[in-house]
Amino acid sequence: MTSYETVIGLEIHAQMNTKTKMFCACSNDSFGAKPNVNVCPICMGFPGMLPATNKKAIKKGVRTALAFRCNIPEFSKFDRKNYFYPDLPLGFQISQFDEPVSEKGYVEIETKEGLKKIGITRVHIENDAGKLTHTNGGSLVDFNRAGSPLMEIVTDPDMRSSEEAKTFAKMVQAILRTIGTSEADMEKGMMRFDASISTRPHGETKLYPRAEIKNLNSFRSLETALEYEIKRQINLWEEGNPLDGDITVGWLDDQQKTKLLRDKESSADYRYFPEPDLPPLVMDPQEIEEMKANIPELPLEKRQKFIEKYNISEEEALFFSEDPKLADFFEEVAETTKEPQKSASFVGTILLGRLKNDNKNLQDCQITAQQMAQLVTLVEEGAISNNQAKGVVFEAMFETGKDPEKIIEEKGLKQVSDTGAIEAIVDQVLSENPSAVEDFKTGKGNVLGFLIGQVMKASKGQANPGMVNEIMRKKLS
Ligand code: ZN
Ligand code: MN
Repeated sequence: MTSYETVIGLEIHAQMNTKTKMFCACSNDSFGAKPNVNVCPICMGFPGMLPATNKKAIKKGVRTALAFRCNIPEFSKFDRKNYFYPDLPLGFQISQFDEPVSEKGYVEIETKEGLKKIGITRVHIENDAGKLTHTNGGSLVDFNRAGSPLMEIVTDPDMRSSEEAKTFAKMVQAILRTIGTSEADMEKGMMRFDASISTRPHGETKLYPRAEIKNLNSFRSLETALEYEIKRQINLWEEGNPLDGDITVGWLDDQQKTKLLRDKESSADYRYFPEPDLPPLVMDPQEIEEMKANIPELPLEKRQKFIEKYNISEEEALFFSEDPKLADFFEEVAETTKEPQKSASFVGTILLGRLKNDNKNLQDCQITAQQMAQLVTLVEEGAISNNQAKGVVFEAMFETGKDPEKIIEEKGLKQVSDTGAIEAIVDQVLSENPSAVEDFKTGKGNVLGFLIGQVMKASKGQANPGMVNEIMRKKLS
């Protein structure tokens, strides 16, 4: 039986985190705002309006393209992409057609077969449309989002499974966050995917007709929609009736299936032409070189460093490197304590576990990296036990944001590591339990645990257990 290969390419729309919109001075932050408050004649598309390019948005687009190792041509321009839709008052989107701001880059991802380069065809800049909400009484339109600056990241058809597509999409999110060009928050609609997928008999190299799945807005829907469409297309092959032309489909999340929307539009359908109201973009090569030098360490490099320098597990390293704020936090704790593995456990398991429990982010957390480092150091120095640190002390830090030392003092938790003090308690316990001492001497070794337990109890759990053990053994021998 023939087996089939899957070919996937993605278009990712990511909203840039600029203060203002792409071609006007309206606020670009409308999260939680009432509909149609951040609007003006420009983003509402009134007749006679004149757009002006947001230079910061251009820089963010270029910075993103540089992080993807794209070429930045000296000259690029904006074009009108014409179509009619109620959320697009101008009747066209300002986008980039044949001369985009960047082209030909790549992003490396980790796959089962090792590192793999996914080609980036281009990153171009455009503005967003408004948002439609369909109700029983009719459709409502909110133009707060109209004119928001978007980056469209277009890949080559280089992915071969839904898993690779998801890994790539997560890597893009991590990169955008690391370089600070987009919050890439999927729940706020700041990152959306269109996935093109075709299938072909194994061994063939030509591209067969594809289905483009529009507007996927979570990693989960990206993966499940692709899985569904892969199966559907292979079934068509097996029925002897493969796709005979490009199509556009939608993903029905509630029914977990794709639905045919239309035959795929081609660029001719959009009647692109150069935007006459905006000057072309001219890049200064020297400035581009400076921007290139300013790209920080990217997630994959960070991850390798965490594994090599800190000797933590691959899983932990992947987890920390996906979120730049978390990566910085972990790194600060590890560098301060010089105990990277213990730091990874305190940050990755204790702190993040607790945050997850409360459905909170690291940004909402009162505990600083320095405080977390103090906590790890206090355990290392034997001032408190591991259990106390991960339990009562951490919990109080989480609730109050106080320093661990202050909490230990307030709660009287300081571990007793003073030899004299521990010896006194051991002596007292031994004199109070002569029969247990006798049992020990006649070879009943299990009474040792009982005697140590009595010392811990007498010290209200504050005696350093290692020292109690050592002193007890010395006294009994
Ligand atoms: Zn506006
Ligand atoms: Mn687009």
